[in-house]
Amino acid sequence: MMPVRRTLPDWIITTVEERKSANLYRQTEVLNAPQSVSPVIEGKAFLSFCSNDYLGLASHPTIVKALAEGAERYGVGSGSAHLVCGHLSPHDGLERALCDWLGVDRVMLFSTGYMANLAVLSALGRHCDTVIQDKLNHASLIDGAKLSETSTRRYLHADLQSAKKLIDKQSRPTLLVSDGIFSMDGDIAPLKGLLDLLLESEHLFVVDDAHGLGCMGSNGLGSLSLSGLSASSVSALIGTFGKGFGTAGAFVACSHEMAEYLTQFARPYIYTTAMSPAMAYATKVSLELIRSEEGERLRHRLVSNIELFKQRMHSLDLALMPSSSAIQPVMIGSSARAIELSALLRNEGILCTAIRPPTVPNNQARLRITLSAAHSHNDIHRLCDTLERFVN
Ligand SMILES: *Cc1c(COP(=O)(O)O)cnc(C)c1O
Repeated sequence: MMPVRRTLPDWIITTVEERKSANLYRQTEVLNAPQSVSPVIEGKAFLSFCSNDYLGLASHPTIVKALAEGAERYGVGSGSAHLVCGHLSPHDGLERALCDWLGVDRVMLFSTGYMANLAVLSALGRHCDTVIQDKLNHASLIDGAKLSETSTRRYLHADLQSAKKLIDKQSRPTLLVSDGIFSMDGDIAPLKGLLDLLLESEHLFVVDDAHGLGCMGSNGLGSLSLSGLSASSVSALIGTFGKGFGTAGAFVACSHEMAEYLTQFARPYIYTTAMSPAMAYATKVSLELIRSEEGERLRHRLVSNIELFKQRMHSLDLALMPSSSAIQPVMIGSSARAIELSALLRNEGILCTAIRPPTVPNNQARLRITLSAAHSHNDIHRLCDTLERFVN
């Protein structure tokens, strides 16, 4: 007898159709060459302004070689969770190197930033009265708070008054969480101001600096360093390796006591396979590069690209956002218009994604331009010249 083919409920199809007709449909695309500022799609070379590879390390020869060497020496798979038998010496070596760089007691590794955020928020949130978050925090922080089963309150973006109102309402200790650099807006959180609001010492303060660590601040120490703070100023600092570091994975940096707690109670740490030891090995080499003179040179290059872009855009009739990071969104408004501009740029060989709701609020569709140390000044001029033609 033929197996019965199950019919899908209507909503599987209709909801996707709705996304299409609202200009919100998304799909993947295959790159046939390494991630870089000049990726190849269907045999055609593009100039890309949409990856988060801010320092150009994703296909840097030193890191590529390190991954191969790590695999030769320690194999590919970790084979198990950290707490069973999947914690190899490259994991330990990377954790120690991160502790030294950040000046913290302990670092714990995760396979992705998404999981690190689920882990920290679910484990800490459940003992807090409320989880208080910036309105524009990353989706993984919002989801982590849901997993904690504690209610979330969100304050107006980067607004200290609004955050204070929520904090003052709490009777029991609360968990305040913010992105360091906001992923869709590129601006930096008022970290010092937020810290000053947490007068009661039992309040927890968690910062996710996925877009700042490695590529901003002195020694690449990110948004905390730009705010005159350090990793030890906060209860936990989350960083990711898939952006500035050019590899994959994430970490949480914290005190010894916090690490002990998370190790026992953070389920997304406990019930998952440890990251590849080869990846941990390569990431340690990436950290060494970030801390070296070459890292400093790359950060300077990135800053100079950001300055050139902002200077060129100043003369155009397009709204930039108050960002001095590598994320430079050009606000468009309508999703249809953002897609149209993205397609026009693409015809000219320039890749730049239209970011639309629900990733950003309604009517705030934008071109999210991300700059890299690997861009040349000519690349930036080419982008701005092309934008100028289509906008004016
Ligand atoms: C990208 C990002 C993450 C997720 O990190 P992955 O390693 O890509 O899962 C978390 N937080 C912020 C702010 C991010 O931008």
